[in-house]
Amino acid sequence: KEPLVRVSNLKMHFPIYGGLLRRRTGEVKAVDGISFDIFEGETLGLVGESGCGKSTVGRSVLRLYEVTGGSVTIDGRDIAHAAPEELRKMRTQMQMIFQDPQASLNPRMKVSEIIGEPLREHHAGSAAERRERVLELMDQVGLNRDFANRYPHEFSGGQRQRIGIARALALNPKFIVCDEPIAALDVSIQAQVVNLLEELQERLGLTYLFISHDLSMVRHIADRVAVMYLGRIAELAPRDDIYAEPLHPYTKALLSAVPEPDPSVEEKVERIILAGDVPSPSNPPKGCNFCTRCPSVMDICKRDEPEFREVQPGRFVACHLFNQTT
Ligand code: SF4
Ligand code: MG
Repeated sequence: KEPLVRVSNLKMHFPIYGGLLRRRTGEVKAVDGISFDIFEGETLGLVGESGCGKSTVGRSVLRLYEVTGGSVTIDGRDIAHAAPEELRKMRTQMQMIFQDPQASLNPRMKVSEIIGEPLREHHAGSAAERRERVLELMDQVGLNRDFANRYPHEFSGGQRQRIGIARALALNPKFIVCDEPIAALDVSIQAQVVNLLEELQERLGLTYLFISHDLSMVRHIADRVAVMYLGRIAELAPRDDIYAEPLHPYTKALLSAVPEPDPSVEEKVERIILAGDVPSPSNPPKGCNFCTRCPSVMDICKRDEPEFREVQPGRFVACHLFNQTT
């Protein structure tokens, strides 16, 4: 089966300027050669600590940045290299839901204008049809139609995120990048928004890239999970596999800190505390980028970068421990 989204060797390096002359002194390798597929109707969770590059991946996939290298195809078309006119068309297929609904909504626009903005930008239908579509979208995300003329500040955080979701759905996208969509919300509201996203996925056949540092939430929503560390993917696997038996030493450490969801089950996993800090993405370690902190580090790890490869059906790992596995 062909994936809906295919990311191949994606690189996103940002220049660093320094000194009196503001010369280019280096670069931050925010995303440094990552590859993954997303299949139609699935949710791929992308997890990792803050600063690992996961948000940059989300933005690069939608080409909100010009990427440094690699390709991103959506429905077989390369968005990373699409000409402006084609890009504009492709943009209707893919949308983003942002972390902070407050910051992503224009405070001077009415809710109906915010949700209808993509429709106007893409000249979708008549003014009357657009008005009707906005009301329909408000229904879909559980916002009262009577609130169409209100302003964002009149809504709660959860409602504002519903406005952001309605706007993202306006042009009937196939693919949505959800970048920490619930991180800014009260815990009591988080489940409601996640349930809404799941319900919409089911109803509209949406495909999600769900970016989060919240491993419990990702366990709930994702079909497959990719774990990022310092600009690269350490491990990618079906959700149940990765939570039951993480393979990469970094995934093991990360998951050992997640509480067991069922309180009646005794915690079996011993918490793994990693030594040291995450190295700077402007100066990542040679070889395996996890070698400075890995409890299982070997000589080869400091020399050769491990290949990201399929070590069991559907399970991808970048680690020398698995190089002999077939
Ligand atoms: Fe650890 Fe080596 Fe595997 Fe990297 S390649 S995760 S340093 S064992
Ligand atoms: Mg799902």
